[in-house]
Amino acid sequence: MEMVFRRIEIAIEGDANKRKKLDAGQWSNEKIWKKSLKHSIFIIISFLIANTFLAYIIGSQGLIKIIIEPINQHWVGFFSIWVFTIVFYLVYSQVRELVCTVICPYGRLQGVLMDEHTLVVAYNDVRGEPRGKLDRTGLLQKGDCVDCSLCVAVCPTGIDIRKGTQMECINCTACIDACDEVMDKIHKPRNLIGYFSEDMIRAKKKPSFNIRMMGYSGVIALLLVVLSYFIFSRTDMDITVMRSAGMLYQEQPNGYISNIYNADITNKANTNRPVTIRAEDPAIKIRYIQAPGIVAKGSDVKTVFFVLIPANKLQSLKTDVRLQLISGNKIIETVTTTFVGPLNN
Ligand code: SF4
Ligand code: SF4
Repeated sequence: MEMVFRRIEIAIEGDANKRKKLDAGQWSNEKIWKKSLKHSIFIIISFLIANTFLAYIIGSQGLIKIIIEPINQHWVGFFSIWVFTIVFYLVYSQVRELVCTVICPYGRLQGVLMDEHTLVVAYNDVRGEPRGKLDRTGLLQKGDCVDCSLCVAVCPTGIDIRKGTQMECINCTACIDACDEVMDKIHKPRNLIGYFSEDMIRAKKKPSFNIRMMGYSGVIALLLVVLSYFIFSRTDMDITVMRSAGMLYQEQPNGYISNIYNADITNKANTNRPVTIRAEDPAIKIRYIQAPGIVAKGSDVKTVFFVLIPANKLQSLKTDVRLQLISGNKIIETVTTTFVGPLNN
């Protein structure tokens, strides 16, 4: 909102005051072309976001298919892109900060996480109060706030930061910039509104690294370690093996017992990969009904195969079998599945 949509809005319609004037004014040629240009750009960006969002859900290959294949083969995908586009467009053009204040739970959580040491966008009321219109004689003016209300006018959520920290504040810092401009004009120091903690304003304490900050930093560090572990231990390929539903075992020549399995192999790498499946125990054989062959980059294949185990190796009704996914002589993943044998074992 702040980095893309608001910047486009400011570039086309001007700052908060100009935008308010434009909104309140009659429909003129200027208003029509400015609004049309802004909303057209918003729709284009929302369309791009909707495409990216859909690719995140169905994969980039799925999205490319929707784009290049006839619409009648992808009604659901085509319809979804437009639903997402409209939702994103409405969020960024109409609903806006209501998402932050009403829909997103973070604003409410934020209050629980804060204390008197927390740095937030705040008004320094010790310096600013008592507020009053600018008195050029200097006889009446006490606080630095000249009550120009610019900080309220520019606030996208419409709050008055001078009333204290509020849940609706999205820390956009627009009020800081507006107030700094006012302070420059009346030759007072900047930062009447700025990043302050309660302690900095009341007790004139400098921000310190307190126990709560250490605790939160520890939690963030832990989350980063967990995230790094998942990123670095991520394999390029995945396999899911399931014994065919409703099938028991089959007796094969030479004293072998077999089960049929289905496997899904996913290739998340950027290159095509030839793969095979092998049992960890060399006495166990694999016979393909549908071989996996080469798995194209960014796609998955299904494979169907028999696992054959010599009957004399089966000790019970169910036996665990370890299967390896092999690519380029390298074991990519090992999975354990259940093999069902005859009852008399
Ligand atoms: S912009 Fe600054 S001076 Fe103007 S009302 Fe807000 S806090 Fe006071
Ligand atoms: S930072 Fe200031 S302008 Fe932005 S939401 Fe908070 S109070 Fe409003």
